[in-house]
Amino acid sequence: MIQAITNDPNTIVCDHPLCHQNLSIIRDKNTSAEMFRNAIRRLTYLLLYTATQDLETEEKVTQTPMTECKTQILRQDVKIIIAPILRAGLIFSDIASEVLPNASIRHIGMYRDEKSLKPVWYYDKTPIMFEDPQKTVVFILDPMIATGNSGLDTIKLFASKRIPTKNIRFVSLIAAPEGLARIRKYYPDLKITTAHVDDCLTKTGYILPGLGDAGDRIFNTVGE
Ligand code: URA
Repeated sequence: MIQAITNDPNTIVCDHPLCHQNLSIIRDKNTSAEMFRNAIRRLTYLLLYTATQDLETEEKVTQTPMTECKTQILRQDVKIIIAPILRAGLIFSDIASEVLPNASIRHIGMYRDEKSLKPVWYYDKTPIMFEDPQKTVVFILDPMIATGNSGLDTIKLFASKRIPTKNIRFVSLIAAPEGLARIRKYYPDLKITTAHVDDCLTKTGYILPGLGDAGDRIFNTVGE
């Protein structure tokens, strides 16, 4: 079941039994890095199924072994971009490129300054301008929407390259209400797909109940 959160039709919560099952695994502090990654991969299919449901299609005539028939394929003139925010967003990349095999992957590198909680950029693999921004659809991938700062910076980057907001989508595992509100302040229409909206942020910018540091748990660097 797919649910829009109250008062915000553009935040889509993937409220599905399999999402709950896998969220339970990744929230558990005793889950190993291997199991954590596997559960996120399963969640990625579910989240992308939801986040791509309004992609436009076009008709194609296909020859089956029996006869000719009309089929639907993704619009061929639309360029799809997958934009994982490093490093945690990398966990979504493989499945995203499997589900969207013709997409380009444009990595965004930033880390969070632990004092200011502001993102510090270190990598931007976007072109100076996109060939046809109106016909470009971007999926920004980041497991956690916490303060919303890194997400917001990434959205701003694509918007500054003339990609219309209606073509930018954000995919996350868990979102904090504070981060959603921050993104909504600037981009009320942008579509956000998440598996859960949690309770709040701690003073140090962690999501409660959350799952801890997603990057550390994915890359098995907890406590370093
Ligand atoms: N980033 C994470 O990985 N976890 C949080 O709880 C907040 C930001």
